[in-house]
Amino acid sequence: MIHKGQCHCGKLKASFETQKTPAALGVRTCQCVFCRRHGAVNISDPEGVVTIDASPEELNRYTFALRTADFLTCKTCGVYIAAVMGKGDKIVSTINVIGLRVEEFLNIEEAPMQYGAETTEERIARRYQKWTPTRFTDKTLGGSNFGPH
Ligand SMILES: [Zn+2]
Repeated sequence: MIHKGQCHCGKLKASFETQKTPAALGVRTCQCVFCRRHGAVNISDPEGVVTIDASPEELNRYTFALRTADFLTCKTCGVYIAAVMGKGDKIVSTINVIGLRVEEFLNIEEAPMQYGAETTEERIARRYQKWTPTRFTDKTLGGSNFGPH
């Protein structure tokens, strides 16, 4: 099934394709201060596909702490839609179903996650294992500033 969402103003859109039901997939609330400030609730499926539909003029990239991912926010409405990591054909992301308002995932029990104790290497490895393979409709946007060499 393909689930769709967009930021508050509609300039950033994303679709999430998965074979799993929302209940089987579950939703996660990362406890870091960035995610809590945004009230983010995230999903990913390593066997799914995320497509991010945005133009470079509308997409803001924010990095902090270990700087291993880019947090994508809308330049117009400020909503946080996804975190993305990697380059080329190895881009992965986790999408925020609250920021994107993906209806099918809004009423699922949240699993709070603590990632603060991870090393940089552990964090990168977990994301490649758990996050969703991702493509951008605008090829110039690519992945994150961080990626495998
Ligand atoms: Zn927006």
